[in-house]
Amino acid sequence: MGYHSILEKQIRKLLPENYQVEAVMQELLNTISSSYQAFDRDKRLADHAFEISEREYQKVNADLQAQNDIRKASILKLKEAIRSLDPTRSFSFDEKDEDLISIISFLEEQIARSKQMEADLILAKETAEKASLAKSEFLSIMSHEIRTPLNAIIGTNNLLHYQDPLPSQKELLNVMKISSENLLSLINDVLDYGKLEEGKIILAERDINLKQFVKNLRAAHRLRAEERGNNLRLMFDEDIPDFIIGDDIRLGQVLNNLISNAIKFTKKGTITIEVLLNRIAEECVYVDFAIIDTGIGIPPEKQELIFDRFTQANNNITREYGGSGLGLTIIRLLLKLQNSDIYLESEADKGSKFYFTLCFKKSETVAQEESKTMHADAPDLKGLQILLVEDVEFNIMVAEKMLQNWNAKVEIAGNGQIAVEKAKATQFDIILMDLQMPVMDGYTATKAIREFDTETPVIALTASITIDIQGRATEFGMNDCITKPFNPRDLFSIIAKYTSKDK
Ligand code: ADP
Repeated sequence: MGYHSILEKQIRKLLPENYQVEAVMQELLNTISSSYQAFDRDKRLADHAFEISEREYQKVNADLQAQNDIRKASILKLKEAIRSLDPTRSFSFDEKDEDLISIISFLEEQIARSKQMEADLILAKETAEKASLAKSEFLSIMSHEIRTPLNAIIGTNNLLHYQDPLPSQKELLNVMKISSENLLSLINDVLDYGKLEEGKIILAERDINLKQFVKNLRAAHRLRAEERGNNLRLMFDEDIPDFIIGDDIRLGQVLNNLISNAIKFTKKGTITIEVLLNRIAEECVYVDFAIIDTGIGIPPEKQELIFDRFTQANNNITREYGGSGLGLTIIRLLLKLQNSDIYLESEADKGSKFYFTLCFKKSETVAQEESKTMHADAPDLKGLQILLVEDVEFNIMVAEKMLQNWNAKVEIAGNGQIAVEKAKATQFDIILMDLQMPVMDGYTATKAIREFDTETPVIALTASITIDIQGRATEFGMNDCITKPFNPRDLFSIIAKYTSKDK
């Protein structure tokens, strides 16, 4: 094997040939050649290692660069996002500022502001809720306060009618009656509207004998219709099941309102209450209701407007007929609550048709013989012993006089506690129970009476017409409810209804 190439060259150049053959020299040359070769190997290894670290360095550098780009893009996006949060505000960090710390402190500031805003909003919401509660309470108290003297006015008026007034006085009494009744319905409307707006109405589910129900409605409105020379007709579809389940109070409210309007806006015409079976589905019975009149009608441009609150088709109408402009708004809200809506077809001077469809749950109840309640026409309650629970002296006077006019025997209890004692001592045919009274209110008294007497009918007399009162009254064991100031017919028929079974 030859020497390393560099050593070969040096030998040729510097070492005479006679030295080259000497054994000692050859050993030396071999050692030097090995050293050269070892150096070469080390150099190659070192070069290779350098090459590798150079490549790694390049890669790390490229990665760093890419990360830097991502960081820059993120900061840019962050700034854009902050700006788009509130485009109206100019932000304190400048365009070139890439300092994440300044952005983070800016965001911290923003979060603190948002938290403050949230706290302010919660406070504002609580204040609004308190105000709304105060409004409801105010309405409820005021309605009661206004209804009590109104009760006196309407009650006196009813009593005066019984005392054979002169024709000229009768006319004045009528004006007083209509005005006070208008005022009453206005108060009721405002109250109901408030409740509906607050979403406080819960629908009841009761058996309704729909045929009897609309017959009663018609009877209640017939007199007023006749006074205006109107014919009030009822068209009832006999295919409708005897009983259906729904909220009779809300249904009554809707129909009463539409019938009153039809009578109000029609003179010497015809008003038809139409109740038709739409279809019987698996769970529901769909019934179409329509109130059709031949009155003054509503011009097309007013037909949507009249459903807005406090809107009337014609301002002169307010003067002539009264009204709050809330009736149709309430009807619409009540129907929406039952997944329905009210529709109108009308032509000026020809008449109007208001119609809607309601879905009632099916009932298991079947019709019994026509109830005996119709004897309500005979204005006599002879032999009945009635407990009247009422604290306001004037209300006592009005109710007592009415009941005595019908030959009933009346016992008075000035508060709930006295009523409970009297009901323990005597078996009354019916108890008329005011709700708000000192010492013990009507609810508590009825609950106490129901512990020893579940039979005697208890009828709630209430001045505050809040439309959820009926449900509460039933909960406490009352059979029914009549709102003061009651008209004599209503009071009579409710008493007759609950006492007829004994006859
Ligand atoms: P109110 O009758 O208390 O004024 P409503 O909301 O019940 O309020 O009715 C609003 C308006 O719609 C009435 O003032 C009247 O102009 C019009 N209107 C309602 N029903 C009839 C109807 N049957 N015929 C003609 N106009 C009607």
